[in-house]
Amino acid sequence: MEHPDCLFCKILNKEIPANIIYEDDFVIAFDDIYPKAPIHKLIIPKKHIATLNELSPKEETLVGHMVYVAAQLAKKFEINESGYRTLLNCNQDGGQMVFHIHLHLLGGRSLLWPPG
Ligand code: AMP
Ligand code: ZN
Repeated sequence: MEHPDCLFCKILNKEIPANIIYEDDFVIAFDDIYPKAPIHKLIIPKKHIATLNELSPKEETLVGHMVYVAAQLAKKFEINESGYRTLLNCNQDGGQMVFHIHLHLLGGRSLLWPPG
């Protein structure tokens, strides 16, 4: 299931350290190492999926679960009332750097819109 050269699979396998803040059967969440906001968490599936383009219909519920976990973490880190952003980058124009899908959870400051 994991991909040998994938950074986030290595975090899943505990080969690379990360500050893991949440884990269940389907996903883990951890601090982004280069935070772009006071709160910047990443929610990733335990299954290696390189980009959103590789999603299959049976993974619809998995992505929904990632969003649900992000909303719970927003409450836990008390940015639910002030507001936050969740986003999934895809490929070069989307700014994707790590090819294992990950939902960003950003908050703790007013975020600009539209993004650059
Ligand atoms: P993206 O540009 O959407 O692919 O996002 C990749 C994110 O992973 C960036 O926000 C990086 O700061 C973050 N990142 C890269 N390496 C690590 C790492 N070792 N641990 C935690 N986050 C990382
Ligand atoms: Zn992976």
